[in-house]
Amino acid sequence: MDAANFAFNLPILRPDETLYSWNGFVHLWNFDISAVNTSLRLYGSPYAALQHDFPSHLSHLTKFTETQFGSAIDLALKHTLLGYYLPLIPLDLSRRILSSVQSTSASHMKLKLGIPSSRLGAKHPLKACSECIREDITRYDSAFWHVGHQYPSVLICPKHRCPLRTLHIKATPVHHRKWFIPGFDPEDVWVDLPTVGPAQIERLRKLADLSVCLARTPPGDLEHDTLATTYRTALRELGILTHSGKLRLVDLQRWVVDYYAGLEHIQGLNVLIATTHTWPALLALSQKTYPICHPCKHLLLICALFESWTDFEWRYQIAKERLVDASTECA
Ligand SMILES: [Zn+2]
Repeated sequence: MDAANFAFNLPILRPDETLYSWNGFVHLWNFDISAVNTSLRLYGSPYAALQHDFPSHLSHLTKFTETQFGSAIDLALKHTLLGYYLPLIPLDLSRRILSSVQSTSASHMKLKLGIPSSRLGAKHPLKACSECIREDITRYDSAFWHVGHQYPSVLICPKHRCPLRTLHIKATPVHHRKWFIPGFDPEDVWVDLPTVGPAQIERLRKLADLSVCLARTPPGDLEHDTLATTYRTALRELGILTHSGKLRLVDLQRWVVDYYAGLEHIQGLNVLIATTHTWPALLALSQKTYPICHPCKHLLLICALFESWTDFEWRYQIAKERLVDASTECA
């Protein structure tokens, strides 16, 4: 039978499920065609459906599904990693990225998102929570990839508070011609998070909670000048930034090493190892001008400087009002 001529059975898109995961179930439900044909039918592109992190060709998908699973922008923000990256990307660039992933894909997307320069890796390994897998199988008869587990700074399940496991695969999923589904293949090899103490687990839980809050923030909503002022105010309160605006680097490095001790060798947080080089660069975040920076670096700073996302948001609003007042006085 010609793949273009038979109706597709479409499973529901579950809350927090990645598009990649849903694509895999579409393929399973329509098992008599190839992965390439599944992708062609859904996205009009032979491999778009195998992209596990960022979307492309979403207009084709929403036309094919008659938007029954949401608009292209909703799908991009709630079911792919774009929701995690775009709050920190300037609004005009965020809009251009969201527009381009509807037609084809955003060219140089990872470069625009500051991923290659971050030293945090660009592969986005697939992660899952054993408790979520059990719950999802009970509730839905199958487990799926949760988008909230795939954010690079999420290493603990925000719901069950336990460490996530990483699926060991030799290449990124897009280099394969099939989908990986958690809990589906007993031959899958899972890598556990290294054992760390209770204090480190608490830090990772806080980092996971902050990451989820960041991903719920609208694209372009966190503006760089305001962020810099927010960070600088908090650093000044810690005595790490002088009133004249000078950064006390020795104090800063000691503070960072103490705060994240025991976590620096965990995959995904390796940026913490080179404290002497990396953290001054990270603290460049607190300067008025800096290039687009990986959300994980912002989140490490937010995690260390603020009690919670609510605390951070409150401080951010105060900084924003101060900047508006200052610009009004200058005008
Ligand atoms: Zn879980």
